[in-house]
Amino acid sequence: MTSRSSDTTPSQGAQPSQKPWMITAEGWLETSNSVPSPNFDDRPDLSDISLLVIHNISLPPGQFGTGCVEQFFCNQLDHSAHPFFEEIEGVRVSSHFFIDRIGTVTQFVPTVARAWHAGLSCFEGRAACNDFSIGIELEGTDEQPYTDEQYISLLKLTDALMTRHPQITPVRITGHSDIAPGRKTDPGPCFDWKRFRAGVKRQG
Ligand SMILES: [Zn+2]
Repeated sequence: MTSRSSDTTPSQGAQPSQKPWMITAEGWLETSNSVPSPNFDDRPDLSDISLLVIHNISLPPGQFGTGCVEQFFCNQLDHSAHPFFEEIEGVRVSSHFFIDRIGTVTQFVPTVARAWHAGLSCFEGRAACNDFSIGIELEGTDEQPYTDEQYISLLKLTDALMTRHPQITPVRITGHSDIAPGRKTDPGPCFDWKRFRAGVKRQG
């Protein structure tokens, strides 16, 4: 006997990344890091989760992998550590998900709850998008291309969200700048909507 049992394993089974991601009935992505944020409340209508909003964020702006986004969404940022952090002191926000530059997904709020990501916003004539949307923050800026790893994770996450919340359809995926024009610019011109939308279509 040898230990080379992998000879008989189908290649598909040897690649965990091929497995679809799953959102539990409680609204948590099974494979993500969970960092619960206190910045959320109840949705006015739990049966209406019908929009996906793409954002970007980096803290300090333009710096990646600092851990500051996670701290910010949990009200644990040291506001004396950077001039920009003083500007956002007292701001209470969150998103459901954050995808860092290497594609790691962190979840702060379950999808069934209302995260505070969109602010003053309007989608197809309907205001207060937080009520009925899910927010995904990509670590980045408007000026820098996102990484391949981010697109891969974003597509897998989107697929999982559309499976758990089927009212989110391809035409109900939007950018923060589209629902808060003049106020927000993210995810910015460097987000490749064509690539992302082609991937969503292929998965569907
Ligand atoms: Zn945003």
